[in-house]
Amino acid sequence: MKVVRGSKRLLASLFCAFLVLTCMVASVLAAPGTSDSETLTIGVPVDRCPVFYLDAETDEITGIGADLMRTAAAKAGYNVAFRVIKEKTLKDALDNKDYDVVMPFGSAVAAASGHPSIVSDNLLQTPFTLVTVGSHETPPLNKLRVGMLHSLGGAAETVRQLYPGIKIALYETMPDCVRALRAGKVDALLHNSYVWYYVLQKPSYSNLTVHPMAMFSMDFRAGTLDTPKGREIIGRLNGGIASLTDTRRQAVILDHTSRRLYRYDFFDYLYQYGVIILLAFLLIASLIVIAVMKYRAQEEKMRKLVDYDSLTGVYSLNGFRKRVEELMRANPDTPYLLSYGNIKNFKYINDRMGKKAGDKLLRFWLKKTQDALSDKEAVCRIGADHMAVLHIAGGEESLRMHNQDVVNHVRSYFTDRGKDYKVQVCGGIYVLTPEDYRQIDVDHMLDYARVTEKRVRETRNDGWEFYNPEQWEKGKRAADVINNLPAAIQSDNLKIWYQPQVDFKTGKVTGAEALCRWAHTTLGYLQPAEFISILEQTGLIYDMDCYVWDKVCQDLCRWNEQGCRQSVSVNLSRCDIREDRDLPKHFHNLIQKYGLTPDQLRIEITETAYVDNPEVLISTTKQLQELGFQVEMDDFGSGYSSLNMLKQVPVDRIKLDMRFLTEEGDPEKGRIILSSVIQMVRLLGMNLIAEGVETLEQARFLQNLGCTEMQGYYFYKPMSVQSFEKLFENESLRVDEPQDGKK
Ligand code: C2E
Ligand code: MG
Ligand code: MG
Repeated sequence: MKVVRGSKRLLASLFCAFLVLTCMVASVLAAPGTSDSETLTIGVPVDRCPVFYLDAETDEITGIGADLMRTAAAKAGYNVAFRVIKEKTLKDALDNKDYDVVMPFGSAVAAASGHPSIVSDNLLQTPFTLVTVGSHETPPLNKLRVGMLHSLGGAAETVRQLYPGIKIALYETMPDCVRALRAGKVDALLHNSYVWYYVLQKPSYSNLTVHPMAMFSMDFRAGTLDTPKGREIIGRLNGGIASLTDTRRQAVILDHTSRRLYRYDFFDYLYQYGVIILLAFLLIASLIVIAVMKYRAQEEKMRKLVDYDSLTGVYSLNGFRKRVEELMRANPDTPYLLSYGNIKNFKYINDRMGKKAGDKLLRFWLKKTQDALSDKEAVCRIGADHMAVLHIAGGEESLRMHNQDVVNHVRSYFTDRGKDYKVQVCGGIYVLTPEDYRQIDVDHMLDYARVTEKRVRETRNDGWEFYNPEQWEKGKRAADVINNLPAAIQSDNLKIWYQPQVDFKTGKVTGAEALCRWAHTTLGYLQPAEFISILEQTGLIYDMDCYVWDKVCQDLCRWNEQGCRQSVSVNLSRCDIREDRDLPKHFHNLIQKYGLTPDQLRIEITETAYVDNPEVLISTTKQLQELGFQVEMDDFGSGYSSLNMLKQVPVDRIKLDMRFLTEEGDPEKGRIILSSVIQMVRLLGMNLIAEGVETLEQARFLQNLGCTEMQGYYFYKPMSVQSFEKLFENESLRVDEPQDGKK
């Protein structure tokens, strides 16, 4: 029995435990605020800081209204999700099914669709206050014109009911409201105090005054369409709102009003610090103006330094270039001439009279010149004692006047001051051509005048001359030749041509003379006459001759290898022969290098060279002969050689130039001279070759006199190496049977 009773008791207690457990699960499932509680979507405006606004850091909706609602909703078992209402008014938002509730409402209003709404209990009593410009009195409330935000349409309706006769104008934004207030369109603005607290922090609203007395206070409720679901939500929310304590409300208000919520925008800063910004701007602007002015002054100073000569105050070359260009452009019909002047032996003046006196003379000269010029003319000092002037061309008379007024005073500068020294002034004058006006190149024109001045300086002691274009062209060509020779040698543009020498009796080619030709890149094919003398003047001839001799030896070497042994005469310039140059050794090394015998290289030295420098030439000739070379006296009859010289000069062969002996004067007398010279040379025991033979008659005449070796156009003109090599192919070449290359 005891066991049965015990089992009954166990069953009863198990049943009780099951019941308790079931109740607990049910209560947990039914409990509000648990993890699976419903989410309430609440649409709110966010332009009402601090009631509703977006947190600057998290970008989430927050504010007094949001926090209070979140607390009340939580108590009612809801999670809340705030969403920014996009609709223009709260009435419109009521119709949007995306929101479960919308807030804030003062009281229930019909939705825009006309559907009635219901509102929750009041969350917070919000005081509405008036704001005016300054603190002046406002009209009685029933005559007041009030500005409000459009979004507060509901509140506006309440106000109209409370204060019949009040006129309310609605504006889209707060700045619009303030503008209307300032413009006197409304007497005051109406909004809740919390929003004023925020808005009036804007610096430009500092003259707006809140009227301390609250005009009225407004409820702060959530609303939704009057539907069963709406009623259920509102019912539940009211439960949560009822549990909100005043302490909680104060805490939330304090939290959002004590935050430094107001953020300055650009215009706030401008308003706040406008004067400072303006002053700073003015300061910076004046600093910039001062800097620019200083820079300009500096630039002007620099320009003066560059464009003017510090010693004399006239233009420098740089300034002169600009001024001349300017004048020529401004006066295209004025005939100008450009002169380049120079004081001869200025260094001597400086040394003898002192640098100061030299400077004074320069200042005097340039001042005198400048004083004599019109404002359409210009003068410059190019440096040291060189000056240039752009004159208006006024013919002989004007030049004479310039000479008299300026140059003569310069000449007598020292003698006028009791010193025994006459200054010499040299100058070149270039007359500008129409081409110069078309393409203004001051440096180029100055070059013309300068080269003329140089000529005067080198040939005379004093005076002025006009530029002559031929001389200029020659100088330019010379410069071109000089600059291009190394490149010509490098690029094989210097060619060796051969002019065969023949035995008139047998008609056989006995040798050839090597003559150079320059295939110039820009000037075309140049004959020796065009560049030899330039190269002699500049000392470059030796380089060229060494190149020619080497090339000739290369050809001789190749012909030797081909079994067509030849002898070639090479030309030697008088400038090649110098005491410090061992020419015999040079030639010796050359034939060694190419495996030639000395009789293959005949060396032609022009007759006049022997007259110019007999000692060195005679010894060089002797040494060359000792080494086995044949030396020939070229162009015999071209100079003024004394016959006596022939006695001393140990040459092997005389090269008679027909052109010198027959071209001018009485041809009969020429023939007599020629026959006498030939006889004399034969009697002296020297070999003979005639060059410049142009006719059969000349050839026969020479043969009758016993001179059978000849060179001349009658036989062959100088020819390229390829043409010359073709001649080898015909060993039995006859003079009276003209071949390739024959004239
Ligand atoms: P040159 O040594 O008296 O050479 C003879 C010149 O007379 C050559 O002129 C030749 O073409 C020309 N000639 C030959 N036969 C006749 C003829 O029947 N009638 C006429 N009117 N002329 C004839 P090219 O080649 O113009 O040379 C001129 C001068 O230049 C040469 O006179 C020589 O003194 C010099 N020369 C030429 N090549 C060189 C060289 O490589 N080095 C040096 N230092 N001088 C050279
Ligand atoms: Mg020659
Ligand atoms: Mg000659």
